[in-house]
Amino acid sequence: MPQVDTHCPYCALQCGMTLDGSRVAPRDFPVNAGGLCQKGWTSGSLLTSPRRLTTPMIRVDGALEPVSWDFALDFVARKLTELQERHGPDAVAIFGGGGLTNEKAYLLGKFARVALGTSQIDYNGRFCMSSAAAAGTKAFGADRGMPFPVTDLKNADVVLLAGANPAETMPPFTQHLRGADLIVVDPRRTPTAELASLHLAPAPGTDLALALGILHAVVEGGHLAQSYVDARTNGFEDAWRIAASWWPERAERVTGVSAADMRLAAAKLANARNVYILTARGAEQHATGTATVGGWINLALALGLPGRAGSGYGCLTGQGNGQGGREHGQKADQLPGYRKLDDPAAREYVAGVWGVDPDSLPGPGRSTSELLEALGQEDGPKALMVFGSNVVVSAPRSQRVQDRLSALDFLVVADFVLSETAALADVVLPVTQWAEEDGTLTNLEGRVLLRRKAIDPPPGVRSDLDVLNGLARRLGRPGFPADAETVFEELRIASKGGIADYSGVSYQRLRDGEALHWPVPENDHPGTPRMFLESFAHPDGRARFVPVEHTGPAELPDDEFPLQATTGRVLQQYQSGAQTRLIKELNDVVPEAFVEVHPDTAKRAGLEEGDPARIRSRRGETIAKVRFVQSLRPDLVFLPFHFPGEQRANLFTNPALDPVSRMPEFKVCAVSLSTVDGAA
Ligand code: SF4
Repeated sequence: MPQVDTHCPYCALQCGMTLDGSRVAPRDFPVNAGGLCQKGWTSGSLLTSPRRLTTPMIRVDGALEPVSWDFALDFVARKLTELQERHGPDAVAIFGGGGLTNEKAYLLGKFARVALGTSQIDYNGRFCMSSAAAAGTKAFGADRGMPFPVTDLKNADVVLLAGANPAETMPPFTQHLRGADLIVVDPRRTPTAELASLHLAPAPGTDLALALGILHAVVEGGHLAQSYVDARTNGFEDAWRIAASWWPERAERVTGVSAADMRLAAAKLANARNVYILTARGAEQHATGTATVGGWINLALALGLPGRAGSGYGCLTGQGNGQGGREHGQKADQLPGYRKLDDPAAREYVAGVWGVDPDSLPGPGRSTSELLEALGQEDGPKALMVFGSNVVVSAPRSQRVQDRLSALDFLVVADFVLSETAALADVVLPVTQWAEEDGTLTNLEGRVLLRRKAIDPPPGVRSDLDVLNGLARRLGRPGFPADAETVFEELRIASKGGIADYSGVSYQRLRDGEALHWPVPENDHPGTPRMFLESFAHPDGRARFVPVEHTGPAELPDDEFPLQATTGRVLQQYQSGAQTRLIKELNDVVPEAFVEVHPDTAKRAGLEEGDPARIRSRRGETIAKVRFVQSLRPDLVFLPFHFPGEQRANLFTNPALDPVSRMPEFKVCAVSLSTVDGAA
């Protein structure tokens, strides 16, 4: 095959690259401007990995045995039918992923509701972006992570990054920040914090108190953008009633950040012309994640940033299709186009596109954590089909999740490598990966991208769309196309009139290189690179301040668990590591779990640099090698979450959920630290 222009398989920046066979070269695409991180450079290795799955497998007497595709799909369809006949439609659940293409996310949602008639579908995006999505929807009436192009940041004078570490997680992004004065909010001194003129390091779980303290300082300093607040927003008084009591000295006592630094941050933000506030997982992954992101949005609104040319608020999406993956129906409560499943008009419209009775569509189902907890229970699903996710490593309290998977009557996993979740399955279906198929993704700035097929898949491998097509036919439900462009044509119609309206996007326009940011409501519409310039998406066109109050982490340290633990990513690994742990150049750099500890804290626990340590919480424990980090708060440890088995950080994380987004509290829990053979 000739050289093909495509995009990286990993994060939401979706850097442009050219593939020649499995050889990768960076491409001059706006978000990466010729740059790639180490993951992008080495991504071609995935295409030739000897660990690649190429044959469907069925578990026989405890071992996975190769079978033909027809045998595997017949078997799956028969088992799903039997279980639904015995226990009802919700006996079968579907689990998707934020890395799946728009076409796959769309078809999974349709497959669940039309072919299976189950309400039980959700996806791993709950772990990544759902708090920012909920907060953005409340404030602006629509959730597009960055409602402006990444390249706008080049003209920023000041950027505040709250809980974002792009210098490590998406390095090419930082070139857009070079001209800006950076304020970084992070309990750790990350590589991004190293770039900042002001690093605010709040105690874990106190970010909202910090946002309230800075908002107070803005108003106290006379910097409230009063005319913007009057003209474009509602609800300031309600939000201020809470923020008024968060004078910086009070916020200092809770966060550990000095009141002087809060006032300095407020002055920097207020006195610059082009200002952006960006949030990411550090703000979101809390039991109060929606409120915390809401606190940063309130600050942005008070400064008059959202919907103003040259300034703004945005959320840095994580997974490759984290944006598109949350728009087209693989969420428990959602229909394509970011429509709500409980909206009668939305049900009627989408049912019309699908050719079914609106009353036949199930209602909203369980969200991710509740779904995983219900597996195999009396009233829960008896079968689960997993596409593009590795929950055994990525879900909080992961041993419990593994136990729930083991309690199922039937587990099917479609993947291209034998992930830790696939290794537990009754049926494993080998599917195509990024460069072996066409598909669209929507990057962190809402731009729809065509990731083109660059090489043929290995013999024996089929696309996820093929799998759904084959199963739907066996279930007596035609109408599930296997060709990506055909699925996209249907998605266009299904999304028409929704918030995320793709109806004017076509493969041809994307092949022609058009930069189409949704909404694109007509065939000749140029797309919407900058949203909210005229009005916000609420019916009255105004943004909403949302009253938010700091309540703190769901679990506080005590005598038994005196430290706090936080988790995150490293440059060389991606999410559960199922892909990047297979790439030698990446895995050689960070081959195993580690725990960052302040040397004094480590020594008090009898630990030296390089020692294996036991990190224990109320839910479980993990083993990781000690790394001394002088800049870390003595009351905090940090672990990456990419590693399997006893090195899983998620063995100890707290599954406490945000009440709105249902996102777990990955970012903080109480732990103890000890030698592997000692008591904490
Ligand atoms: Fe890929 Fe993200 Fe790295 Fe770009 S920054 S090369 S999209 S992993």
